[in-house]
Amino acid sequence: MTDFSATRAMFDLPEGVIYLDGNSLGPMPRAAKMRVAEVVSAEWGEMLITGWNRGWGGRGWMSMPVALGDRIGRLIGAEPGHVVVGDTLSIKVYQALASALEMVPGRKVVLSDSGNFPTDLYMANGLLTSLGHGHELRVVAPEEVEDAITDEVAVLMLTEVDYRTGRRHDMRALTAKVHAQGGLAIWDLAHSAGAFPVDVAGGGADFAVGCTYKYLNGGPGAPAFIYVAPRLADRARPALAGWLGHEAPFAFELDYRPGAGVERMRVGTPPVIQMTALDAALDVWEGVSLEDVRAKSVELSERFIAGVEAACPDLVLASPRDAAGRGSQVSFRFDEGYAVMQALIARGVIGDFRAPDIMRFGFTPLYIDEADVRAAVAILAEIMNNRLWDRPEYKRRAKVT
Ligand SMILES: *Cc1c(COP(=O)(O)O)cnc(C)c1O
Repeated sequence: MTDFSATRAMFDLPEGVIYLDGNSLGPMPRAAKMRVAEVVSAEWGEMLITGWNRGWGGRGWMSMPVALGDRIGRLIGAEPGHVVVGDTLSIKVYQALASALEMVPGRKVVLSDSGNFPTDLYMANGLLTSLGHGHELRVVAPEEVEDAITDEVAVLMLTEVDYRTGRRHDMRALTAKVHAQGGLAIWDLAHSAGAFPVDVAGGGADFAVGCTYKYLNGGPGAPAFIYVAPRLADRARPALAGWLGHEAPFAFELDYRPGAGVERMRVGTPPVIQMTALDAALDVWEGVSLEDVRAKSVELSERFIAGVEAACPDLVLASPRDAAGRGSQVSFRFDEGYAVMQALIARGVIGDFRAPDIMRFGFTPLYIDEADVRAAVAILAEIMNNRLWDRPEYKRRAKVT
């Protein structure tokens, strides 16, 4: 059984804060603070450029993208050596889609859904326009995806868990269907990795991508990851042919040769300080069972839904009622949801808001427990039942909501 009081002690949360936004930016693991300070002073400061070979405790900074990829691979059910870390998730989406499309020549449709995160759709659109081969990005409602998987589809590109409602797709079933129709599947695991057990290998994903600053707690701007199935890894042509994806970057050849397997998805110089924070954050998962995380997250979410529905009749559940159809967040709709969220934050309960009317609350058992849920429900009820949100300062929109 995972000891969640031990994992909770590994995070440095400000006094008096109930943090229900780990689905958007994970909090700081205590170890990250020390390790970043160490790498800055003892490695960057003392080793200077020799850190590429000697840093990271002798393993060399340059080995971090592959080694951290493996650590994440264990959390998403990937075969060893098939995940690499780098860049932002938007970039990884672009790389996955570009490589996948080339493997299904003759088909012109990329299928996605309106529950996808906009950047995934924007990146796809940008790529298809640049290709100039007449590809179509077909966006259907989430519940229509299954029927829309036809033999026209080159690539099915979905985010497993909807960032607004927490609705979860059936990765295994949809992947099987697109394979039966002769297409490939790309899964965005931004709201899956670290939230519940994921099995990219067993689920048959061709490509998977995700970020590390949400449930993996790697810190603001922490690099993304990409998985390429072993059967495709040596065939995937990298669209972003950066020097660190070259087979021999330090041969400095004028011609590009892709590196072995997923290493070809590396692009440029890795962000060493940010990766150090991520490495420290991944230590938290040692001894943690994702099955336990899932069970506890469902329990906390159910308590929250029941509590809010009993105490706040004006809030409407936006997430699937059945826990099996949700990721690890719960959302409620309310016209003045933005103001309610600001009132919550002013009282130490941190969630966030997504236009037009969604309040999001993430349940991350690594550092959230039943007492937090009880307290959050009580504070929300007090705000709703006394209209405490109805103040001009809570209605002024900030740049980041
Ligand atoms: C958070 C998120 C992103 C963010 O992409 P960045 O390039 O890291 O800013 C992209 N896609 C999905 C599905 C997300 O949830």
